[in-house]
Amino acid sequence: MRRFEDPAALQAWARDVRARGETIGFVPTMGYLHAGHLSLMRIARPRCDHLVVSIFVNPLQFAPTDDLGRYPRDEAGDAAKCTAEGVDVLFFPTPATMYPPGFQTHLTVGPLAAPLCGTSRAGHFEGVVTVVLKLFNLVQPTVAVFGEKDYQQLAVIRRMVRDFNLAVEVASGPTVREADGLAMSSRNAYLDPEQRTQALSLHRALDEAEQAVAAGTDPATLIARTRAILREQSPAEIDYVDLLDATELTPVTALDRPVVLAVAVHFGGTRLIDNRVLRP
Ligand code: AMP
Repeated sequence: MRRFEDPAALQAWARDVRARGETIGFVPTMGYLHAGHLSLMRIARPRCDHLVVSIFVNPLQFAPTDDLGRYPRDEAGDAAKCTAEGVDVLFFPTPATMYPPGFQTHLTVGPLAAPLCGTSRAGHFEGVVTVVLKLFNLVQPTVAVFGEKDYQQLAVIRRMVRDFNLAVEVASGPTVREADGLAMSSRNAYLDPEQRTQALSLHRALDEAEQAVAAGTDPATLIARTRAILREQSPAEIDYVDLLDATELTPVTALDRPVVLAVAVHFGGTRLIDNRVLRP
């Protein structure tokens, strides 16, 4: 496995690969890799000649009150996992090389980025699409794979790719969960044992919602019931519980089409998200 820190060196490598007519698959991450990240690498691996994984904790997508400073890191462990997955190139840029002095150009985002995490994390999606566009220009992937765990992020990135006519196929992988249902996340490392148990309410609430939809519930009841299940974990502070059109991410008044139930909850200082697409 080759390792690049310098964006220009990585870009030169990618240019040579593409000039030879070979394909590049790409999985961007913030590191502290878990089975969810590895599942995306396994989706990308057979679809490309060269698999690139980036590890970059992107300061642009963190608000001052977010967890940038304490985001978990494990460079050596991540490199070993990438080697085991047959990754060809690990790209490890630094904030100083991605955003050198004078950097000043940012993408803006539209209505898809407005609800959910766009409301509670101002500037987050601008930071995400700006770094993803930079990474795409450096890595020059033919296919890039993202997780459905970050449902809104996936929608916003797909939109950006269409809006800018980027020659990248965006593929996605389903959310990988722990045996007890908790969605894997690098942030799970923050949870103490009690919070780890409380966090199971996310998965439980989504399971119950799926059953309620099958039984013919309505949106208001569904949201109220989901909030009640999450609140049973008394210290859990709900950021949002929202039911939106699965494609447009707009509010729904009836369960007459595919919808996404998206939740974000604080367990102590740790904010976790999860979602479920529900098809009435
Ligand atoms: P992150 O390192 O959290 O920025 O995530 C990097 C990529 O992995 C994103 O496309 C995420 O959506 C995806 N991802 C994170 N957690 C999971 C999971 N539990 N299952 C599948 N994909 C995931």
